[in-house]
Amino acid sequence: MKKFLVLTFFMVVAIAVTSQAQTVYSSAKGEKYHTADCKLSGDADNMTLAAAKKAGKTGCGVCKPDEHFKDKVSQCVGKTADGTRCKRMTASKDNKCYQHKSK
Ligand SMILES: [Zn+2]
Ligand SMILES: [Zn+2]
Repeated sequence: MKKFLVLTFFMVVAIAVTSQAQTVYSSAKGEKYHTADCKLSGDADNMTLAAAKKAGKTGCGVCKPDEHFKDKVSQCVGKTADGTRCKRMTASKDNKCYQHKSK
């Protein structure tokens, strides 16, 4: 039973961290929301992605926040021995699969 409680706790933390990461930037009158590093976000306020969508805002076409927050899994940027791009998918931050990531 204790094990179950611990598991639940970690799940709640994981969900909290995930939703917190979905912060977008939009000015009060803006119709678009942006990622933190978009040059068009200007003096925008930060809000959650959910709040921005609720307010009827849409994702900026330059920084594409929706793609940014989509599935974090992407194709490995490493190259295989014959010089073609690695076809493995990875969720690691540097976009490299277990075989190509630096040790
Ligand atoms: Zn933008
Ligand atoms: Zn790879």
